[in-house]
Amino acid sequence: MSTAAATAEASPPEAGAQLGDRAFELMQRLFGLCRSLTGPGVRATFDILREYVPLRYTEVASGTRVFDWTVPDEWTIRDAYIARADGRRVVDFQRSNLHVVSYSEPVHTRLTLEELLPHLHSLPDRPDLVPYRTSYYDRGWGFCLSHRALLQLEPGEYEVVIDSRLAPGHLCYAELELEGESDDEILISTYVCHPSLANDNLSGIAVATLLAGQLARQPRRYSYRFLFAPGTIGPLAWLDRNRDRLAQIRHGLTISCVGDDGPFTYKRSRRGDADIDRAAAVALRELGAEHRVVEFEPWGGDERQFCSPGFDLPLGALTRTAHAADPANHTSADTLQRIEPAVLEASVDVCLSILEVLETDRTCVNLSPLGEPQLGRRGLYRPAGGAVSRPEQESAVLWVLNLSDGSRTLTDIATRSGLAYGAVRQAAARLEQAGLLSSSPPSERRARHRC
Ligand code: ZN
Repeated sequence: MSTAAATAEASPPEAGAQLGDRAFELMQRLFGLCRSLTGPGVRATFDILREYVPLRYTEVASGTRVFDWTVPDEWTIRDAYIARADGRRVVDFQRSNLHVVSYSEPVHTRLTLEELLPHLHSLPDRPDLVPYRTSYYDRGWGFCLSHRALLQLEPGEYEVVIDSRLAPGHLCYAELELEGESDDEILISTYVCHPSLANDNLSGIAVATLLAGQLARQPRRYSYRFLFAPGTIGPLAWLDRNRDRLAQIRHGLTISCVGDDGPFTYKRSRRGDADIDRAAAVALRELGAEHRVVEFEPWGGDERQFCSPGFDLPLGALTRTAHAADPANHTSADTLQRIEPAVLEASVDVCLSILEVLETDRTCVNLSPLGEPQLGRRGLYRPAGGAVSRPEQESAVLWVLNLSDGSRTLTDIATRSGLAYGAVRQAAARLEQAGLLSSSPPSERRARHRC
C-alpha cells in the first residue's frame, strides 16, 4: 500500500454559480470516464474531484487479502467492438462504455453469430436500452447492447475485439479529512465504480463532493471523513486499514442515487436506533415533503459492509429512489438528461440538514425538575407578556423540561414530541439562558467497536 499526500487545495466556489449547477457540471465532466473497480477511469475521476476538494489517494496492491476478499487485478480498457466482415462496427465501446462488460478480459478473434451470442447481454423486456454488466470476480468477457440491435445482427462471421488489460496493479480509493473541534468522526461514503451512468452513481459522487466543499467552509464540532471508493472491495479495503480508528466513527452516511426526482429514502443503520437514524428521521420530517425512512436490510450499497456484524457502524444510507426501484438503474436510460441541478442542490441541502442536527444535538438536564418551574416570570410562557408567542415554542419549552433527565438529546425530544428540531433547540437555548437547563454534547452512545 502506498499513500500519496494531498497537494491540491480546495477551490473556492465559483462566483455566482449555484451549488446545484456546480454539482451538475461536475457530473458532466465525469460522465464519459470508464470507471470500474480499478483502473485509469477511477484515478481520472479522483483527479477531477481534486479540483474541488483536497483528496488523498490510497493504493492497495492486487492480490492483497481484504477480509474474505482479494483485491483483483487492475483493469484497463482502450477499445472494444464487434465488427461485420465489411469492417462496420455494430457494437462500439467508443460510442458508449456500457457496451463492454466491465472487467472483460482481452479478446481478438472471429466468431460466428452463434458463437458470439452467449457473450451478448440485452434486455428483451426493454429492447431500446443497453444494460450495464460487470464480471469483476469471474474471468470472462462480454458485450452489452440493446435487444433491438441484437435482433438485427445477421448470421455470419464477426470480428470481436476487446483491447483490455488485466494485470497486477492497484485498487485506488480517495479520502478527504476535515478536522473539527473533536476527534470524533462522521464518515460519508460513496462508491465510484460505475461508468457512464448518471444517477447511479455520479450523483452520489457529485453530491458528496459539493457537500464536502460546503462543510469545509463552516465551523465543525465533528471531524469528517469522506470516502470515495469502488463498491464493496473499496470500503472493505478501507475498513481493513482503519481497524484501529473505527471507534472514532460516531456517525456515518452512505450517499448514492440522489439525482433523480424521487422522494428521499433513508435506510436506517443495522442498529436501527443510532443517533444518525434519529437525526435523519427528524431532518427529513422537517422537509415537509414526501420521504421514506426504512429499516435496515443487508441489500443495497456499501452500507452492507459498514453495517456487517463485525463492524456494526452507526451508518445509514441516503438515496432518493432506491437502486432496485428505479427502472432506469443499470441501463443506458440513466443519462444526464434525467438529472436536474435543483435536485442535486436539494440533496446536498438534506445532507447538510442531517449533519446540522448531529452537530447541534445536546444531552440536556433539567436543573429544576421538582415540578414545573414557574416559566411566566422568566418570560418563557405567554402570560408573562408574550415573550413566547407561538404555541409550538411554549410546547417545546415544556417538552424540553420534561424529557431533560440527562439520558435524552434534543433529537430524542424532537422525535418523541413531534416538534420541529429547530423549535426544540431554540427552547433549550432559552431555558439554558434562564438557568433552568444544562446541556452537553451527547456522549453516552459511543460507537461500538468489535473488531
Ligand atoms: Zn449500481
